[in-house]
Amino acid sequence: MNIKENLARVQERINAAARRAGRDPADVKLVAVTKTIPVEIINEALDLGVFCLGENKAQEFLCKQPLLRQDIEWHFIGHLQTNKVKKIIDKVSLIHSLDRWSLAEAISRAACEAGITARALIQVNVAGEATKYGLSPAEAGGFARAAAALPGLELCGLMTIAPVCDDPGEVRYVFRQAAELARRMKDNIRGIKMDILSMGMTGDFEIALEEGANLIRLGAALFGARN
Ligand SMILES: *Cc1c(COP(=O)(O)O)cnc(C)c1O
Repeated sequence: MNIKENLARVQERINAAARRAGRDPADVKLVAVTKTIPVEIINEALDLGVFCLGENKAQEFLCKQPLLRQDIEWHFIGHLQTNKVKKIIDKVSLIHSLDRWSLAEAISRAACEAGITARALIQVNVAGEATKYGLSPAEAGGFARAAAALPGLELCGLMTIAPVCDDPGEVRYVFRQAAELARRMKDNIRGIKMDILSMGMTGDFEIALEEGANLIRLGAALFGARN
């Protein structure tokens, strides 16, 4: 596995997909998902200019974070237990996985105690998969309206994970609906930004980009398949 080549290929694919959609590739931010990847390999990616990293488990993030460069922009992308919020709140730049009210309250409380404003994306489960976290699109508006009033919490957009499919074209509707939902929320709810659409992984990021993603989360495409 050659991270440099993987990164170059990914960048080409991002550029091509963005152009197809009439978008500027520079508006797309790449989060390198480093779950299960050892620190030495992560350092290789950092040396190649990667600067946003994503982890999905608080424990693993807290183990790795002190061992890596301190200017990394960390993204928390996994289901977050409320009792872990305090430990990560001042170390992450964006929480992608705000998926329930108790977590919104815990983030708000921890951010206020730390004297910071925490940035978060609401995770929406567009396909309604029982195995995935996230609010239904129908719930998301009311949830956002209430969460926007919590101190210390800034809602920045939406995150979604599409079902695994052999043909990523089959999940285009998931990305399209998430983008449409973000637009509606931005127009209708005061005090929320909704500028970030975190969607697209190794198997489907080009489709997500065509539908408006501006934050993509790639693991395998950069580091190879995980065991
Ligand atoms: C693991 C993971 C990714 C990256 O998945 P790949 O298929 O390896 O690109 C993206 N988002 C979340 C939430 C993840 O847990």
